Amino acid sequence: MLNTDEIRKEFPILGQKVHGKPLVYLDNAATTQKPQCVIDAISEVYCTINANVHRGVHHLSQVATEAMEQARTKVKEFIGAANRHEIIFTRGTTESINLVASSFGGTFLKSGDEVIISSVEHHSNIVPWQLLRDRIGISLRIIPLTADCRLDIEAYKGLFSERTKLVSVAHVSNVLGITNPVKEIIDIAHSHGVPVLVDGAQSTPHIKVNMQELDADFFAFSGHKVYAPTGIGVLYGKEKWLDAMQPYHGGGEMIKSVHFEKTTFNELPYKFEAGTPDYTGIIALGKALEWVESKGIENIAAHEHELTRYAVEQLRGIEGMRIFGEPDGAAVSFLVGDIHPADLGTILDHLGIAVRTGHHCAQPLMELLGIPGTVRASFAAYNTKEEVDTLIKGIERAVKMFA
Ligand code: PMP
Repeated sequence: MLNTDEIRKEFPILGQKVHGKPLVYLDNAATTQKPQCVIDAISEVYCTINANVHRGVHHLSQVATEAMEQARTKVKEFIGAANRHEIIFTRGTTESINLVASSFGGTFLKSGDEVIISSVEHHSNIVPWQLLRDRIGISLRIIPLTADCRLDIEAYKGLFSERTKLVSVAHVSNVLGITNPVKEIIDIAHSHGVPVLVDGAQSTPHIKVNMQELDADFFAFSGHKVYAPTGIGVLYGKEKWLDAMQPYHGGGEMIKSVHFEKTTFNELPYKFEAGTPDYTGIIALGKALEWVESKGIENIAAHEHELTRYAVEQLRGIEGMRIFGEPDGAAVSFLVGDIHPADLGTILDHLGIAVRTGHHCAQPLMELLGIPGTVRASFAAYNTKEEVDTLIKGIERAVKMFA
């Protein structure tokens, strides 16, 4: 069980008022708020150990390098990876997926090859593949939805061909809050000898992930959705793929030797970490993961599932309510009557309630559902049932205003 009263005290931002009302922050799928220990970790770097990493023989550089590499070990443990050098720091999920599209695509894909993605993908797991399609002539196959907004696994099985080279799917939909059966998806792909990239942006904050159990070939997530700062993220990749892939960015740190005629590349993970890394963000990410572990990810998950279950139950009582799919995670998407999601979001904002409205960077899913967008409430460790009640009252008030 989580002690939300105590947890809330760790998040300075949550104490404020918005439009004169206590802030009810239900936009956690977009980004989570940060606990004091993460905020402190950032200022501590600049107050005590700041120096560029890896290249310096001097004391501060060595201490900063050690702190950064300890954070890599923390990430490795947190996601159950086999090796530290399979953890590559990026700016976030988006950059991690672009890295795979560019480097895996550049190394292994050619005109006529196929990549399978799904109907529920975020734009960041669609557009990089379209860019690759336009660059080298691959094609995309899309896993369709069943009537209850789940991925159609039978149809997925039929999408494979001799030309299928990669499957890239979201672990949890950022719109529907539905967990996809990624283990099954991976096992099916592997039975065809096809590797799988999992977009873990919406699962890592809520589910205990383990790379070795999942057997994902690549796994991407963003620090800012798991209580860490913005601008830092992770790409996990199996050594056998990362070793064989061409680098992504060129520059300092990713090289072994550079001559005008020829350059040789550094070992993993540095081959994929060109330039000065965001070592401050990395160290703070390590701190955020420690914070999650101190509360217990299973406890956080149980708390969020209970809030989601409660929210769905309460929402269903509102006339004209339409919930998309049956969420099992920490987010729920809905529409009420013919109230435009942006109008509902604006009214809720005036009541101090932060929800996300719109297409949630998943326009193809909106097209499939035949809607312009939804209102999404998404939960984190610090949210409470009272906040769900405030949301429900706010929606009921909006419904009355539009009646
Ligand atoms: N994939 C999913 C499922 C997401 O929810 C998000 C963020 N909304 C992203 C990818 C992109 O993450 P970021 O903007 O942190 O790169």
